[in-house]
Amino acid sequence: MVVVKINKNLCKGCELCVPFCPHSSIEMSRSLNDYGLHTAYFKKGYPCNGCRDCAIMCPEAAIEIFHVQ
Ligand code: SF4
Ligand code: SF4
Repeated sequence: MVVVKINKNLCKGCELCVPFCPHSSIEMSRSLNDYGLHTAYFKKGYPCNGCRDCAIMCPEAAIEIFHVQ
């Protein structure tokens, strides 16, 4: 199982990660983080193949991918 963790207070809302997910599993939130920015989040229940493309694309290193049993 893969867990995608996006740190909302590191995210700057650039949206770069969104189109890189092959499963369209990341989108932008309507709510704001502590800095008043709309941030990316992983859509609950959506698939993740653990490709790390989103994490690699993020210029803020806000996304971490964990493989858990
Ligand atoms: S690791 Fe790959 S499949 Fe998973 S959310 Fe990121 S881009 Fe999408
Ligand atoms: S690429 Fe990083 S900084 Fe940009 S929206 Fe995605 S998580 Fe946020």
